[in-house]
Amino acid sequence: MMVGVPRESFPGERRVALVPAAVTGLIKAGCEVLVEADAGLEAGYTNSEYESKGAKIAPSRVDVFAGADIIAQVLCYGANDHTGAADLPLMRKGQLLIGFLRPMGRLETVQAIASTGVTSFAIELMPRTTRAQSMDALSSMATASGYKAVLIAADTLPRIFPMLTTAAGTITPARVLIIGVGVAGLQAIATARRLGAVVSAYDVRPAVKEQVQSLGGRFVELPLEVKDAQDAGGYAKSHYEACYHLQRELRGKVIAESDVVITTAVVRGKKAPVLVTKEMMVGMAPGSVIVDLAAERGGNCELTKSGEKISVNGVTIIGWINLASTVPYHASQMYSKNVSNFLLNMVKDGKLNLNMQDDIISNTLVTQDSEIVSPRIREFFGLPALVMQ
Ligand code: NAD
Repeated sequence: MMVGVPRESFPGERRVALVPAAVTGLIKAGCEVLVEADAGLEAGYTNSEYESKGAKIAPSRVDVFAGADIIAQVLCYGANDHTGAADLPLMRKGQLLIGFLRPMGRLETVQAIASTGVTSFAIELMPRTTRAQSMDALSSMATASGYKAVLIAADTLPRIFPMLTTAAGTITPARVLIIGVGVAGLQAIATARRLGAVVSAYDVRPAVKEQVQSLGGRFVELPLEVKDAQDAGGYAKSHYEACYHLQRELRGKVIAESDVVITTAVVRGKKAPVLVTKEMMVGMAPGSVIVDLAAERGGNCELTKSGEKISVNGVTIIGWINLASTVPYHASQMYSKNVSNFLLNMVKDGKLNLNMQDDIISNTLVTQDSEIVSPRIREFFGLPALVMQ
C-alpha cells in the first residue's frame, strides 16, 4: 500500500499532509510512503528527513499520483478551488484521496472528483467523537488559526497588549473580545491572555462559560435564554440565527469597548452569521482591529473582505484566509498526526479495510466508484438517496 504525498499546490499554501515523523508508523503498518520532492520544504521538513525515516522521494507530482494507492493532501480539489482541478486527470479509479475537500462547497466540484472514480474522504466530515478526536483536522487547524489571529491583531494594533508600569507612566492593557468560543476561540483567548490582554468572550452556547473563565477570560452574558444551542455533534444550530437581533444592542456596546475583536463564529454548511455590523463598528475607537476568522465563509463582520485587510473609519478589518498555513511547521505536524491516525485506522498489515460500520470511515467517505456516496452530502445537495444493491 503506497501512500503518496504531493506538494500542496494552492497558491501560498505552505503545509504538507504528512511530516517525516508519520512515516515510521505507516511503514510499521505495512505501507510505503512516496513524497514529492520538496513537498515539506516550506513547512521546514527536508527531503532527507523523509528519506531517513524510510520514505521515497518522487521527482514530480505525476509520479506521486501514478505510484500511490492513497493520496494524502491538505487542500484537495474542492478546498483548493484555484489550482486543484489540475489533479483530476492524475486521479484514477479505486485510488484513495484524503484531505480537505470542502464537500459542501459546489456540487459540480464534488461530481468532478466522483467522476475520476477516486475513493475520496473529506477530513472535515470527521465525526466529533472521543475516538475520532486524534483525527480531527478541523480542530487542529482551528488551534493554529486562533493562535495566529491574536498575533496578527497584536501586530496591527497601535497599542501594547499587556499592562506596563513604567517610569514614563502606566500603560493600560488591551481589551480583546472573542466572538465564537469553539476550538479557535479558546486558543485565541489563551494566546491573548498570555500576551497580557484583558479578554472577554461570547458564544451562543452558554456551556462554554466555564471554559472561558478557566482560561482567565470574562464570559459576556447577553440576556437571552438560548437553550439547546448546540446539536449532538457539538455544532451551533442555525435556527438560533433568528434570536441574534435581540442581542445586537448589547453586543454593539461590548464591541465598542474593545480594542481587538476576533470573530470565529461559523455554522456548518451555512454562511457565517453577521455579528459585527457597520453600525456596531461606528462605536469602535480608531486604531481598533477586527480579525475575522470566518472570512472565507462570508465573514462575521459585515464589512469583511475575504482575503483582504481593509480600513474603515480607522478600524482595520482583516479577512485573511488560511491562517493555519502561516504556521506551517506545527500546522503540518498536527494535520499529519490526524491523517496518519485516520490511515492507521483503516490499513492493517498493508491491507486496506474499509469497514463501513466504522463511523470514522462511513462519515468521511464522499465518493466511490464514480458516485457521490455520502448520504449527508447527497441530502445537502438535494440528490436522491442511493439505492443499496
Ligand atoms: P465551530 O468552528 O463550528 O464554531 C465556532 C464557535 O462559534 C462555536 O463555539 C459556536 O457555538 C459559535 N457560534 C456559532 N454561531 C454563533 C453566533 N451567532 N454567535 C456566537 N457564537 C456563535 O466550532 P468548533 O471549534 O468546531 O467546536 C465546536 C464545539 O465542539 C466546541 O465546544 C469544541 O470543544 C467541540 N469539539 C468537540 C470535539 C470532540 O468531542 N471530538 C472535537 C472538536 C470540537
